[in-house]
Amino acid sequence: MQDVLTRYWGFDTLRPLQSEAVAAARAGRDSLVVLPTGGGKSLCYQLPPLLRGADEPSLTVVVSPLIALMKDQVDGLVLGGYPAAALHGAVPANEAAEARRGVERGTIKLLYVSPERLLSEGFLGWLSRQRVAALAIDEAHCISQWGHDFRPEYRRLAEVREALPDIPVHAFTATATPRVREDIAAQLQMRDPAMLVGTFDRPNLTYRVLPRVGNGEAQVEAVLRRHAGEAAIVYCISRKQTESLADHLSARGFSAAAYHAGLDVGRRSQVQEDFLDERLDVVVATVAFGMGIDRGDVRAVVHASMPKSVEAYQQETGRAGRDGLPAECVLLYSSADAVKWSQLMERSAAEADVPVAVVRAQRDLLFQMQRFAASARCRHQSLSAYFGQELQGDCGGCDVCNQELEEFPDSTTVARKILSCVARLRDPYGAAYIADVLRGSNQAKVIQRSHHLLSTYGLLRDVDKDTLVSLIDQLVDLGALLRDEGDYPTIRLTHTATPILRGDVPVRLVRVRPPEELVATDQRRKKAQGAALGPEEQAVFDDLRALRRQLASERGVPPYVIFGDAPLMEMARRRPSSLAGFAAIKGVGAAKLDQLGERFLAAIETSAAARGLALDPGASPRLSAPLGAPAKAPEPRGPTGARAAASVLFARGVAIADVATTLDRAPGTVVQYLVEWIEQEQPVTVSAWVDDATLARVREAAAGMDSDRVRPVFESLGGTVDYDQLRVAMAWLRTGA
Ligand code: ADP
Ligand code: ZN
Repeated sequence: MQDVLTRYWGFDTLRPLQSEAVAAARAGRDSLVVLPTGGGKSLCYQLPPLLRGADEPSLTVVVSPLIALMKDQVDGLVLGGYPAAALHGAVPANEAAEARRGVERGTIKLLYVSPERLLSEGFLGWLSRQRVAALAIDEAHCISQWGHDFRPEYRRLAEVREALPDIPVHAFTATATPRVREDIAAQLQMRDPAMLVGTFDRPNLTYRVLPRVGNGEAQVEAVLRRHAGEAAIVYCISRKQTESLADHLSARGFSAAAYHAGLDVGRRSQVQEDFLDERLDVVVATVAFGMGIDRGDVRAVVHASMPKSVEAYQQETGRAGRDGLPAECVLLYSSADAVKWSQLMERSAAEADVPVAVVRAQRDLLFQMQRFAASARCRHQSLSAYFGQELQGDCGGCDVCNQELEEFPDSTTVARKILSCVARLRDPYGAAYIADVLRGSNQAKVIQRSHHLLSTYGLLRDVDKDTLVSLIDQLVDLGALLRDEGDYPTIRLTHTATPILRGDVPVRLVRVRPPEELVATDQRRKKAQGAALGPEEQAVFDDLRALRRQLASERGVPPYVIFGDAPLMEMARRRPSSLAGFAAIKGVGAAKLDQLGERFLAAIETSAAARGLALDPGASPRLSAPLGAPAKAPEPRGPTGARAAASVLFARGVAIADVATTLDRAPGTVVQYLVEWIEQEQPVTVSAWVDDATLARVREAAAGMDSDRVRPVFESLGGTVDYDQLRVAMAWLRTGA
């Protein structure tokens, strides 16, 4: 397994839960794996098919609703030498036919299918005649009506279970509360499933919930300024808002575009592609965007409004920092968002005839989200708690723990002024109007209603209107005010307001600290996580990103398929001068070493020289800890890509046939590489390629010869030892072993 893991993915170890998931798959036991986005779910179903013996069925069928993602995943796998294919509506007929033939011949080990295709006429019949080893269901929460993304077609996956009764099912999801987990297992008729639930916490993410000021444009812009040139997603509730915000940002010099379900398909896929291919930095989107976006280097996710559930929030923010590097999630919150959502829910329930239980479940989810946003508890802790897990201590990565909100000056007095204004107005008005009165506006409607005569008129003249509305919102969250639902939501007092008005209870209203302070916090955190690059290293990193883009466009795949940011960052730091040094970078598997190694080495050399940086600097104490393996000593350049790749594999004891497949070279060539490698490296053993008994026989036969030639020994052994093995054995004996 270790061998397969390093050969195909360039990883050293499985993460603990992946290990358990792979064990369940190998034991043929049903399993439900809940791991947050970026947790490494795909490996759980991609690895086991490569571990099955030649005589066992090894095809795993992966059901996924995300067609765009499927294509990229398959491209990535194939680039890594993995036999995978996809079948769904967007696959051309000839490719589909080829995929089917591959399955029939047993060469395809992983087949992605859309639910529609799986359930289409005749497909299940065909599938039941193939040697299927397992069924993997991605985004499994879509099967549950208690979840936040219920899809009726997912319910029908139970039929697949009936058509393939003896085949184990492995379900995967990033977001599932305990209740949803139970439901998934029941719907899929799982038998004694292994329930593998990972930690939900994403320690590399910094969460911030800020009171939204005005329409939030200035706040969104401030966040994006902190991430200039980096990938970011901004989520809005309405299509109109995505467009106006994208326009605003473009006018301010950002590379930004809007994305929502109202755009035509061509435009939508254009935006997705531009974003994936790194031609576009910022996507301003409704929730329609993101399903199927697998860009690992998203450094910021901003919610311009509150999402409708904590699950949605976890999933959307989960798109930040999938590569494990630090990223920031900012939620601009106003209690008015909840009202907007609940209107939208009511409207769509009325249109689509949604069952009462589902509507109630949705409302409950919305309420939980509002509670999360308005609470003053550590964000990492409250998110974990929501998914049933306990997390302790100061996270150092949220607005609450970092005390980023400061008290609004004279909070209690300001609160009392606002509340008494609401009391004096008698009839309920909207928050904006209340703010107008408090600021002493002389608009006609204020005068006509004689509100300029109230004693509270103009009491908060020096507070700007947006801030005032945000303070009113905060009083709603504190329960002192209540916002009624309706087309024009109005505000009125609750009994909680009475003791505040009397001056018996203090109130803490907050405002955000200046953005410069946030930048400093983020820098400290980056350093602590070992993810800060020096300015020259950063320049090398940028050069490598450019090379990645170029290689990706040459191959017609998205850049992340080439390498994620984490390996690139490690390259920028370690600046290997040899293929062996390059192979030691985490995330560099043998196929990529072979195909991409030389190009990256050349780029690293040029870029390092231009910035005056040395190649192969010793492992500096700052960097060695998070990176694990220490940098290797410089080695002479020379051998070609395939030879060097092969030597890395030989050092791991990989069999000749496997090296040949991985590098796409003839076995004879690989034997030649092996012989040279033995001569050069003089390994202590060659037991990976020649067993001890054979070695003893060769040693004996060769001892009687007066030359080093292979042919005479071969003949004296009567041809009973394989010629290739003989070459390997004799090369080793010649080293004096
Ligand atoms: P998910 O599907 O759960 O969102 P992915 O499968 O996309 O997560 O994996 C997230 C990231 O973690 C990817 O960049 C992947 O290469 C990396 N990764 C997964 N497993 C490992 C591992 N065992 N060692 C190192 N990196 C890993
Ligand atoms: Zn915290």
